[in-house]
Amino acid sequence: MGVTCLMSAWSAHEAELRSYLRHRSRLIEEADDLLQEVFIRALRQDAQFCVIENPRAWLFQVARNILADRFRHEHAHVPLPDDIPELVLDEVPTVDALSQCLPRVLSELSADDRLAITFCDIEGNTQQALADAGAAVDAVYHCPHHPKGQLAELAIDCDCRKPAPGMILRAAKDLNLSLADSILVGDKPSDIEAARAAGVGRAYIVQSDNAESTTGLAGADAAHADLQSCVAALLPD
Ligand SMILES: [Zn+2]
Repeated sequence: MGVTCLMSAWSAHEAELRSYLRHRSRLIEEADDLLQEVFIRALRQDAQFCVIENPRAWLFQVARNILADRFRHEHAHVPLPDDIPELVLDEVPTVDALSQCLPRVLSELSADDRLAITFCDIEGNTQQALADAGAAVDAVYHCPHHPKGQLAELAIDCDCRKPAPGMILRAAKDLNLSLADSILVGDKPSDIEAARAAGVGRAYIVQSDNAESTTGLAGADAAHADLQSCVAALLPD
């Protein structure tokens, strides 16, 4: 999976990326912020990251672009150094980036994004557990955008953040699903709104510990106390 490829490249190159960015930033916090942006952009490559021929060069190119953007915005007349990335020393010790960086990045994401990434990539064994139980996950989608997000790159209005139906429509296209014959189970009103907007045949709401969880029907066909009872109600006797 993409994150596995990314994490192995990240653990090999994070230290030199950080050192590179720190040499070109005024503040350590700023460098760490930029480093995080590099990571997020790499994360967005998902599985595509695995086919990048030279991950180190790719990461440095992205770092260089991010620096260029930053310089352009804040120091309109300061020329970019043209010694990138040759100046970077190869002998910088590598660090265990998975433990250092990923939790920090995850903490910046919304609860939904964190859950999706944690579920499908970090806890890769979860899918194995599902498979062992005879179930399969065909795809996992998440929206990394938030109009009020801190990362400018992702702070956009998109068509995939619920209640917009983008992720459902994408899944229907990717997996050739008939939405009218599909069922959606959500745990908050915006899930149900997204289902309606996408034309999903039946939508059910279940309670969860999500902050937006509700005890009401929220426009769903039925409400259930939890996922298990929803599934039980759907299955034939
Ligand atoms: Zn989105």
